[in-house]
Parts: sequence; structure tokens; C-alpha cells
Amino acid sequence: MSPSPKTKVAPELEFGNAWEYAAAPESVKVEIADKYGMFINGAFVAPKSRRYMDSINPANEELLSKIAVANEDDVDRAVAAAKAAFPKWKKLKASERAKYLFRIARRLQERAREFSVLETLDGGKPIKESRDVDIPEAAKHFFYHAGWADKLDYAFPGRKGRPLGVCAQIIPWNFPLLMAAWKIAPALACGNTVVLKPAETTSLTALRLAEIFEEVGLPPGVVNIITGAGETGAALVAHKDVQKVAFTGSTPVGKAIAKQCAGSGKRLTLELGGKSPNIIFEDASLDQAVDGIVQGIFFNQGHVCCAGSRLFVQEGVMQEVLAKLEVRIQSLRVGDPMDKNTDLGAINSLGQLATIKRYIEAGDAEGATRHQSSAKLPKRGYYLPPTWFTGVQPSHTIAREEIFGPVLSVMSFRTPEEAISRANNTPYGLAAGIWTDKGSKIFDIASRLKAGVVWCNTYNRFDAASPFGGFKQSGFGREGGRQGLLSYLELV
Ligand code: NAP
Ligand code: MG
Repeated sequence: MSPSPKTKVAPELEFGNAWEYAAAPESVKVEIADKYGMFINGAFVAPKSRRYMDSINPANEELLSKIAVANEDDVDRAVAAAKAAFPKWKKLKASERAKYLFRIARRLQERAREFSVLETLDGGKPIKESRDVDIPEAAKHFFYHAGWADKLDYAFPGRKGRPLGVCAQIIPWNFPLLMAAWKIAPALACGNTVVLKPAETTSLTALRLAEIFEEVGLPPGVVNIITGAGETGAALVAHKDVQKVAFTGSTPVGKAIAKQCAGSGKRLTLELGGKSPNIIFEDASLDQAVDGIVQGIFFNQGHVCCAGSRLFVQEGVMQEVLAKLEVRIQSLRVGDPMDKNTDLGAINSLGQLATIKRYIEAGDAEGATRHQSSAKLPKRGYYLPPTWFTGVQPSHTIAREEIFGPVLSVMSFRTPEEAISRANNTPYGLAAGIWTDKGSKIFDIASRLKAGVVWCNTYNRFDAASPFGGFKQSGFGREGGRQGLLSYLELV
């Protein structure tokens, strides 16, 4: 199997290693076509709708490309391709399915630099994050699930796992390639076929992943990628030949999808929003804690479902924490995401910028005290300085609702009991962080926080082997690990 001739790969990328990529300047030129069709039945095709939407680089507001907008006919074509491919893919020897996943992972690693640059151009995230997190983690998910493909009998002893059929997978714009990998890899490992819809503002890396599917000779129809906005997603969810819907996105859209699927017999998993608490106790190593808090809220401009957006500080160390927080936040570099030293890049879209600004105004209006970094922002592009509020009351909008931007709400607590009740006082339950030097406290508090992941003296750590998912309005179902396989199998 060799790369298809139309895909150009720089020679040094074929034989380089991860360290070499990291050391090289991020000046690699990535070819972007003027226009992209959809990937259906193993080929790029023009949309029947004949409609295209603009894909913008949020760092400078320039047009990157035009992307197809799939209508119901296009959705139908993609689902039909996935349905037709399912019987053969399901019957393929599991070790053969694994080989495809291994090859995809390997090609992703080999083309990592190109994918990193494209991810940053399309979505505005700092290149160091695309390069060190998004792309390598996406490759890891394919490697990890390649390992499961022929070992499913061991995952659930005494039971047989059967694939479900056509999986409709809808993903958000904050980790575009990584979310595609989280969805596609387990579905394929379990023998399902896929129709994936990336988010409107960040479709380019998913479409480039389709090039890898071509390169590795993935049988036509096993993965189809259709682009478009919310209506395309809704049409996909509604399709009668879809057996499983996997959605990652906001809680309101997740609720709408749950209603749409109710009574249809479709299997559903929802990975939704969050308002995660990060709790600093007096006995914590404060420098380490402050570093973790900053990373926990400002990583990827705060466009992170599990962002530690509510900070609870024990009263005795509040002043010290605030002083350290200010110094640390003022040192963050905000600006051109392609600069390897940039800590915060561009906000993903103009719409999201407006949403975040509305929340900041609500913070001001409801009486919290706003602090912002004095970082100088570029004149063009969608940027915001890292922002934190003190004097926040639990009833304030900025303490209750997901902002999905670089905005931290700081609150205090006196006792561990109070920390737990305040942390759990939210309709969400995705993640939480605890900072303390006392091991017994970690076990006690972690077991009483209602959150899918609880990090202790660290934050935003992920592993393909570890299940991820929420409680309450953060959704249901798990992705990753053995538990994640359950979302794509029927156990008999
Ligand atoms: P979103 O607005 O809910 O959109 C998510 C995806 O659903 C996009 O592809 C979107 O298309 C599509 N969509 C919109 N309306 C739809 C409908 N009625 N039916 C079907 N699909 C529809 O969320 P987002 O703004 O992209 O992402 C941010 C949210 O994702 C945050 O709430 C964040 O917490 C959550 N998130 C959760 C996790 C997790 O694992 N729990 C991970 C990452 C993000 P268009 O965007 O093209 O309109
Ligand atoms: Mg874009």
C-alpha cells in the first residue's frame, strides 16, 4: 500500500521522528484546495445541494477554502454508502480491521506536521497545542483501538459483542481532528461503519483525514464525511438507516438530539458541556496549583468541555493565590497561533467571540470584578485577553453557565464540606480538579465530587485507555478505554 500520487508528502516527514517535528520551524506550507466536496463511498464528490460555505482562518479573518454544505440528499447518499459497506466490514477478519486502524495511525504520525498546521490555520489554536496534543493524541486513539479490534472477546468475557451498523457521528470545533479520532476509531474497531459530520468552522482536518483513508485503502463507504452546519447534523440524526448516534457538542443541541432519537430505537451517546470546578486547599503546593489552574482554563483559549472554569480557593490562601494567578496570567502570550511561543491563539469564530463577550458583560453587570491580562492583541482576527473575575457569587451567570472561552470565575470556601457542595452545585458533571498535598483528602473529596473525571494535582490529562464522559447535563456514555467500546457494540 503506497500513498496515492495526488497526496504530496515532504520527504523529511516520511522518515522524521516526533522530536524532529517539534524542533523544526512551523513554516511548513500546507496545500489547501479552493473548494472541498464531501467524502462519500471512498471518493470526494460535489454536494447535490450545490452549496458551499466559507471556511475562515480566525487568526486573520482570511478565507481558507469553501466547504460543501450537505443537504438531505447528500446525507442520504452518505448513509447509503455506509449501509452498503457494513455487511462486508463487519465480516472482515478482526485482525484485518486492526491493520487498517494501525495504518491510519501511522500515516497520521507521518503527516503530523501538515495536520498540525492545518488544524491551527482552520481553528485558531496555538501550533504548540496542535503539534503536541491534538495530532499525536488523535494518532494514539487509532493505535489504541487497533489493539482492541481483534480482542473484543476479551473485553467482555462470556459475552459476544456485535457491531450496531451505521453510526452517525457529530463533532464540535474545539478539537476537530481529535474528536473525529475519538469517534471513528472505536466505531471501526467494533465493526461499524460511519458517517461523520465535523463542525461548520473546522472541517478541514477531517477532510484531510479522508485522504489518509484513501491512502491506506480503507474500503469505500466504511467512513463517509459530510460537511455542513446544524441542519446537516439534524438530517443525519433523523435518517432511518442510522442505528447509532454519537454526539459531542453543547447541552442544548444534545437535548434536541435526545428528543429526536427518543422512541426511534437508535442508540445514543452524548458528550456535552461542562462547568468544571478546580479546588485549591490551603495545604496545596500553590505554585504548582496556580500553574494547573492557568492551564486548566486557558488551554485552547478555554474552548474545552472540561475547562476548569470555576476556581474555588480556600479562604486562608486566597490573597496569595490571586497574586500568583495575576503574575502567571500576565505572562501568557496571546496572538498569532502559528507562533510556537503563543499560549493563547484566536477565538474559533466571530460568533463565539460575541458569546464570550456577552458573558464578560454579564459578569460586570451582575457585580463581579473583572481582571484582564494587558497582553496586546493583534488588530485583525478574533482575540480576547485571558480574563478572570473575583467577587463572584454562585448565583452569577458566569458561575453557572458554560462560557467556552478564556474566562475564569474565582470563588472561595472555608471547609472541605463547603467546597464539595459548591463544586457539585451545577447542572453539569464532566470534570473536576483537586489541589492538596494530603492523600486522604484526595480520596475523600474525589469520591464525593459528581464528575466523570477528577484530576488530582494535575488537570486536562487524557489517555485513550481511560474512559471519558459526563454525569447529569454533561451527557451519558463513555469514550475511550474498554467502557468506550460499549457505545459501539451490542452485547449478546
Ligand atoms: P454545538 O453547537 O452543539 O455543535 C456541535 C455539532 O453539532 C456541530 O457539528 C454542529 O454543527 C452540530 N449541530 C448543531 N445543531 C445541530 C442539530 N440540531 N442536530 C444535529 N447536529 C447539530 O457545539 P459546539 O459549539 O460546536 O461545541 C462546543 C460544545 O461542545 C461545548 O458545550 C462543549 O462543552 C462541548 N464539548 C463536549 C465534549 C465532551 O466530551 N463532553 C468535548 C468537546 C466539546 P455546526 O457547528 O456546523 O452548526
Ligand atoms: Mg475555520
